[in-house]
Amino acid sequence: MPRCPCGCIFGRRALLVSALAAAAVSAPVGRAFAAEPAAAADPALIDDLVAANRILYDQGVVDGFGHISARHNKDPARYLLSRSMAPALVTAADIMEFDLDSNPVDARGRTPYLERFIHGEIYKVRPDVMAIVHSHSPAVLPFADTNVKLKPMNHIAGFLGDGPPVFEIRATAGTASDMLVRNNDIGRALAKTLGASSVALMRGHGSVAAAQSVKHVVFRAIYTEVNARTEIQALTIGKPNFLNEKEAAAAMKTNDALVDRPWALWKQRVVPK
Ligand code: MN
Repeated sequence: MPRCPCGCIFGRRALLVSALAAAAVSAPVGRAFAAEPAAAADPALIDDLVAANRILYDQGVVDGFGHISARHNKDPARYLLSRSMAPALVTAADIMEFDLDSNPVDARGRTPYLERFIHGEIYKVRPDVMAIVHSHSPAVLPFADTNVKLKPMNHIAGFLGDGPPVFEIRATAGTASDMLVRNNDIGRALAKTLGASSVALMRGHGSVAAAQSVKHVVFRAIYTEVNARTEIQALTIGKPNFLNEKEAAAAMKTNDALVDRPWALWKQRVVPK
């Protein structure tokens, strides 16, 4: 079980386990556990998820590819993720519900993302995580594909800690895969690489960010990309002097209380009042 940086893992894990047990007991006899959608998600959560899809495109984190999910607010054993489409075009009607094995429970003819297993497998082992972004944001790739470590260049990126781990898909999928996290086994290996971190890089692919809310994970995904650009600039003129681990942890704690400010700025560009 990974350690949660905020120390809340045991309380949330107990909640998750008891909710899973209650859901299993109340599942109708003779029906698959995943067959029925949970109670309707909070409309505000759906609104945030739709806005987040558009913000991530507007801020250059996703393009035609990439996705963001949120854990279901009524059932921690479910998560919400758009059907397979460009994030900038997502509406509430495109949001699907999945169990943690990433089976859709309300597909209604909608096609899920091939890489939804990223989300389900991280939610399984990180009860503290309520939202996840997967992207191929371009400035991050040099750090996924070389021995140069991505590390926090300033306080805003304190969530990068001592630098994200890098996921090597070959260890699970061999040397001839299409690089996609297309099943639970690969998703589980990625979740293990992520461990208790906020971000993991994916060699030859992109990155994943995890956080305690949709707003926090959007913040982390955007500033992972911004930090990567800044670090590349720094590397062209000298040797970077990164935040140390204590500075990074302290900065993350401060920033985690301030995510509403950039969120309001980003949201008004894609959801005009
Ligand atoms: Mn991908």
